Amino acid sequence: MRCSPYSDADATRFDRRHLMGSLGLATAGVGLLRGFASGEDDPVEAPIDRHSTIRIRSLQPHICRDRVYVKVETNAGIFGWGEIKGVVPSVAATLATEMFSLIDNQNPTRIEHLWQTLYRAERNQRGGAFMVHCIAGIDMALWDIAGKLWKTPVYRLLGGPTRERIRVYPSAKAVKIGSGPRPQSGDPFDIEEMVSRVRAARQRLGPRGTVMFDAHSAVPPATLIQLASRIEPSNILFLEEPAVPGNIEVFKRLKQQIGIPLALGERDRTIWGVIPYLTENAIDILQPDCGYTGGITQMKKIATLAEAFHVPLAPHCTQSYLGMTASFHVTASIPLFLIHESYDNKLLGRFLHPTWKRSDEGYVSLPEGHGLGIEVDEAMLATVASDPAYRYRWRGPQFYPDGSVADY
Ligand SMILES: [Mg+2]
Repeated sequence: MRCSPYSDADATRFDRRHLMGSLGLATAGVGLLRGFASGEDDPVEAPIDRHSTIRIRSLQPHICRDRVYVKVETNAGIFGWGEIKGVVPSVAATLATEMFSLIDNQNPTRIEHLWQTLYRAERNQRGGAFMVHCIAGIDMALWDIAGKLWKTPVYRLLGGPTRERIRVYPSAKAVKIGSGPRPQSGDPFDIEEMVSRVRAARQRLGPRGTVMFDAHSAVPPATLIQLASRIEPSNILFLEEPAVPGNIEVFKRLKQQIGIPLALGERDRTIWGVIPYLTENAIDILQPDCGYTGGITQMKKIATLAEAFHVPLAPHCTQSYLGMTASFHVTASIPLFLIHESYDNKLLGRFLHPTWKRSDEGYVSLPEGHGLGIEVDEAMLATVASDPAYRYRWRGPQFYPDGSVADY
């Protein structure tokens, strides 16, 4: 059973005409509203939520390769899209379909309320990766709907643009060097291999270029401390994922012993996942992934938390253009930002057509149009998704030379 948040008494008290009258706008105000909407049933016209007639009608998960694209449709003819990644796609599609029963026939613009509805629907799944990644996809679709309904880019709904363009990597001026799994206590050769790649990148880009290093949680702490002292002269922007999440004490130890800014956050979910890094002063840069951390709604909150600690965001992003565009909207609206990860996935880009543009200088323009500002070609999506040769594969495990399972 669903309870209305408004009583009958509220309905009388906040009657729209009553409200307009109390503002002395009974005639002029109605005319003003009708200037951009017509008819009592038009969802755009309703200034108070309970008058809105827009309702969620369906959710369709489209499995494509290793991810799921969700389309949420409404009775107003407006639909939104979101991306779910990092979950076995058949599981994500099933979970998103089951989640639909929780938001069916609800007003899609009550995004915070619906986020909480999904998040608190099963106490034993709360905060888990499968749940949060699926919520993220649905959350993106709801923001897309709200922006289309109110005819504005999502970043305007998030407070408006704080910047005119978004710095991204990789670019001609910004590169990230990565490491795969390293055994405990690396030999000089192992460390030297990583050091030389960082040095080569610095030499190639010069002092105006940006070099980053991603340890992928795959370099054991002792080895990482040795490595960090060697690459410190190369002045890298940050050292990413210094350890596997789980024990804040590990990050505090690394922070004390490493003289390079530390960045992490791609594998942490929601405000509750990232808060210990901030309160324990364990990091310098936060890297939430819009698709992993709970969507636009959570990423915006995480940015605010980080702001309070003077920690900028360098959003992690291995999503295709859809999830990436959602992340760009948050990035466009926050005050403390460093650089955004952004890759062209040419295969998935065949059916995703964003409105932002990438410049040679290593920036993207802000998304244009209403909602997320990205068009999904459903016919092409179906074509790409129907590749009979594709099989989902687990990303790990990876193994050390002695046969033991490596961290990654
Ligand atoms: Mg990374």
